[in-house]
Amino acid sequence: MSAPLTILGLESSCDDTAAAVVRGTPKNAHVISNIVIGQTDAHAAFGGVVPEIAARAHAEKIDLAVKQALSQANTSLANIDAIAVTAGPGLIGGVLSAVMCAKGLSLATGTPLIGINHLAGHALTPQLTDGIAFPYLMLLVSGGHCQFLLVEGPDAYTRLGGTIDDAPGEAFDKTARILGLAQPGGPAVETEAKSGDPKSFALPRPLLNRDDCNMSFSGLKTAILRARDQVIADHGGLPRALRADLCASFQAAITDVLIAKSRRALAEARKINPNVQALAVAGGVAANSAIRTGLQSLCAETETDFSAPPLALCTDNAAMIAFAGLHRAHTGQFDDMTLSARPRWPLDQTSPTLLGSGKKGAKA
Ligand code: AMP
Ligand code: MG
Repeated sequence: MSAPLTILGLESSCDDTAAAVVRGTPKNAHVISNIVIGQTDAHAAFGGVVPEIAARAHAEKIDLAVKQALSQANTSLANIDAIAVTAGPGLIGGVLSAVMCAKGLSLATGTPLIGINHLAGHALTPQLTDGIAFPYLMLLVSGGHCQFLLVEGPDAYTRLGGTIDDAPGEAFDKTARILGLAQPGGPAVETEAKSGDPKSFALPRPLLNRDDCNMSFSGLKTAILRARDQVIADHGGLPRALRADLCASFQAAITDVLIAKSRRALAEARKINPNVQALAVAGGVAANSAIRTGLQSLCAETETDFSAPPLALCTDNAAMIAFAGLHRAHTGQFDDMTLSARPRWPLDQTSPTLLGSGKKGAKA
């Protein structure tokens, strides 16, 4: 493998403005700096990410993120070998912010430009953090995504299945809203669930018995809404203990579905490539300890290695984009000024689409 490279990564596809510097080779890379400027406060009043607010905040902060990433890495643009930027999928106004910033920097300094698929960034992270070798199975579970990917190389992804409606993080966030808990909902629901009984409410496990790797989480949120209304009708309010029971039951339902479908996805992945030795998880929902513990037990039982990158590299960040860029730079794959921001960009272009498909094609 050729000499180590230093890559500047930029990310702005959802609600995190991020820049990072990664140095090394695809087999041995290190995160030198990792800056994430979140927007939680800007969206808090609206109960979700508002695309226009996100785009403006990214445009305001992306150059600051770059400055901080270079300064934390104790380096300058002159020492950067390539600039890697998320070019999709994501909220178009946001994606455009980092793409335009990266193009400007590339044009001004002559540094090569590389457009990265955000999902490839997540999918390659276990290599950066744990040195996991291809092929492996990736479960991506975040606020906007949910899919199983067989990862056989930096450009070889097969989607084995995913959600047909909401992402699990979205379901956690909506459940928190229904139960009057703070946003982001995942950590709030997990905290409440600790003192609740997971068997107290019989919630559905959608698509559990279907013989594929697809999932559905939108019905679960409706079930929580109905259960809450019933509790309020019976008790004249939502007692704290029953709220904890609802959270525990909801978390148990999501966990059951994710574990059962991961078991199936592992079997499917091994049918395609018997050398699959590891299951890796990424995305904000991977922070959930019930889900992590469940996946760990599944891996122990099926003699599979388990990789869960540290949280800062599980959620949206630019180090993963820089690392994906490192792979591309090592094989001489660069982009030019025609690089465009793509709101829709499925990683696996061949598998049938599941989510957000329509006249404009598959979303992710
Ligand atoms: P991301 O989309 O990767 O930026 O992650 C954000 C999503 O992860 C949000 O929907 C959060 O509610 C969710 N999340 C964060 N922490 C947890 C947790 N401990 N349990 C479940 N979901 C979580
Ligand atoms: Mg985010």
